[in-house]
Amino acid sequence: MTKHAPDLASAVREIAAEMKEKRDRGEVASYIPELACVDTGKFGIAVVDADGEVTAAGDCDEPFSIQSISKVFTLTLALGKVGDRLWRVVGREPSGSPFNSIVQLERERGIPRNPFINAGAIVVTDQILSGHQPREALGEILRFMQFLANDDSISIDEHVAASEQRTGFRNVALTNYMKSFGVIENPVEYTLGVYFHHCAIAMSCRQLAMAGQFLAHLGRNPITGHSVVQPERARRINSIMMMCGHYDGSGEFAYRVGLPGKSGVGGGILAVAPGKASVAVWAPGLDANGNSHLGRIALEALTRRMGWSVFGA
Ligand code: GLU
Repeated sequence: MTKHAPDLASAVREIAAEMKEKRDRGEVASYIPELACVDTGKFGIAVVDADGEVTAAGDCDEPFSIQSISKVFTLTLALGKVGDRLWRVVGREPSGSPFNSIVQLERERGIPRNPFINAGAIVVTDQILSGHQPREALGEILRFMQFLANDDSISIDEHVAASEQRTGFRNVALTNYMKSFGVIENPVEYTLGVYFHHCAIAMSCRQLAMAGQFLAHLGRNPITGHSVVQPERARRINSIMMMCGHYDGSGEFAYRVGLPGKSGVGGGILAVAPGKASVAVWAPGLDANGNSHLGRIALEALTRRMGWSVFGA
C-alpha cells in the first residue's frame, strides 16, 4: 500500500479553523500604541510550496505590521552590501535575552549578539544607511521587499512608524549606547528613522510567504528564477533564524516547530521549510517572549502534519 502525501490544503484549512476558535490568544504588544489596537481575533496563514503554489486561509490577505520580520530582509541587504565585514559590528550567537535588552551590550562593549535582537538590527540598518540619505536607504529596503514578493503595492504604515518614533525610548537608549562605542556610523536619529520605518512595513501572510521563497530554495526564487543570494548565504541566514529568530524563545521554537523562523511583535512569523515551502502566519496576541502565541502553535501543528521539521519527522 502506498502512503499518501499529507494534504497541505486540508492541513492549512483545518489549522486556520482551529486557531480561530482558541480562547487563549496572548496579549498584543502595548508598548507601540498603534499595535495595541489590533484585534487578537485575527488569524492568517499562507504557504508557498516549491512549485510556487499558494495555499492560504483565514485573514491571509490582511496586511499587518511585520516589525522584526523585516530584520531578515535587512540582514540579507546588509550582507549584500558589506559582506562578511558585517560580522565586525554584530555577532551571530543566540542572546538568551529579551529583544530590547540593554545589559548584554555593556558586557560586550557595544557589539550586539546577533542581527535579530533590536540592537543588532539597528546596527544592520546603520550599515545599509552608510553612504546614503535615510530616504534612499528606506526606499532600497521597501523596493527589495516589493521585488521579493513580486508586489509593488507593499508599503509602510506611517501611523505605526510615527507611533514607535514617539515612544521608542529603549531603542533610542540602545542606539546612543552603541554610538558611544563607535559601533553606529550615522546620526542616531537617521539610523532609528530608517529602522522604525522598515519595522512598520505592512504585509499580508500571502505577500510575506512569497518574499520568503528565496530562503527555502537555496537563495533562488523557483518561480521567477531570480537569484537573490548565493546558496551558502541563504543557508547561513536560515541558521541565524533558527538560533536567534525568536529572541529568548528561540530554543522553544526550534524544539516545537523545528524550522528556521523569524517573529515580529506585530504577531507575524515567517518560517522556512528548506526545499519545501515558505510559510507566513499572523496572530497578533503574543507570548511572554514577544512571539506570536497562536502563530507558534499553528506552525507546530503544520510541521508535524507535513513532516517538515528539519530535524526529521
Ligand atoms: N520595532 C520593534 C522594536 O524595535 C520590533 C520588535 C519586534 O518585532 O520584536 O521594538
